[in-house]
Amino acid sequence: MKTALVTGGSRGIGRAVTLALAQKGYHVLINYVSNEAAARETLDAIGGQGELLRFDVGDPESVRTALEGWQAAHPEEYIEVLVNNAGIRKDNLMIWMEPDEWQQVVNTNLNSFFHVTRAVLQPMLLHKYGRIVNVASLSGIKGLPGQANYAAAKGGLIAATKALAQEVARKKVTVNAVAPGFILTDMTEGLDEATLKKDIPAARFGRPEEVAAVVAFLASPEASYVTGECISVNGGLYT
Ligand code: NAP
Repeated sequence: MKTALVTGGSRGIGRAVTLALAQKGYHVLINYVSNEAAARETLDAIGGQGELLRFDVGDPESVRTALEGWQAAHPEEYIEVLVNNAGIRKDNLMIWMEPDEWQQVVNTNLNSFFHVTRAVLQPMLLHKYGRIVNVASLSGIKGLPGQANYAAAKGGLIAATKALAQEVARKKVTVNAVAPGFILTDMTEGLDEATLKKDIPAARFGRPEEVAAVVAFLASPEASYVTGECISVNGGLYT
């Protein structure tokens, strides 16, 4: 069975992506960092068609140990789809932002792309097939106040997507991003949906499945001539 890795696959958008990829026949490595119960629930939801892989995407040592360990245990297989989805936000106005809030957000949302992608890229190049999809954000395109850290990380992720896409296109590895707007997950819990949705042309927050459908397309063999692209999934909310 072909293998896909979804970072932050335990909850929210990552869980929906895990379900979509399992439905397409993938054995899904469900990464998480702390919430094992949620990760198990996701694994149950795909009928056990995968496994849990706990590591901190922002910690190079943790990433290396987990992914080298998996590869050593499965020498005949390789991760042909990688969805860099794990992310956090720690919003604050720049003037109040602590160095820690900057570091943690950039580390988990952007440095993680480097650590995880580098660990799985070589087998994709050797097999001359791979799909990498990065979950960015509307904030990384237009910037949102209170999110200088998050916007910088997601904007950097979109730029890195475009750069890597050009490096590996000849080897039939595609690299794309999606930029969700407001999606109903734990991350947006507590936001004032009634007020915010007035600015969204679709007049509602999105569902994780609506992002997962776009990710699943970009991760499919059919998306072979789409690379270096960032697709917004935001109900029309651009300005
Ligand atoms: P969520 O519901 O808060 O889920 C976050 C997921 O990331 C969880 O599975 C969590 O694992 C995992 N995670 C967090 N830090 C991690 C780390 N250091 N190492 C490994 N896994 C880690 O978030 P979401 O809303 O689904 O967001 C998913 C992605 O979409 C993020 O990159 C986010 O920035 C992006 N996004 C979300 C929205 C939105 O409106 N929701 C909009 C734009 C972009 P645990 O379960 O173990 O904590």
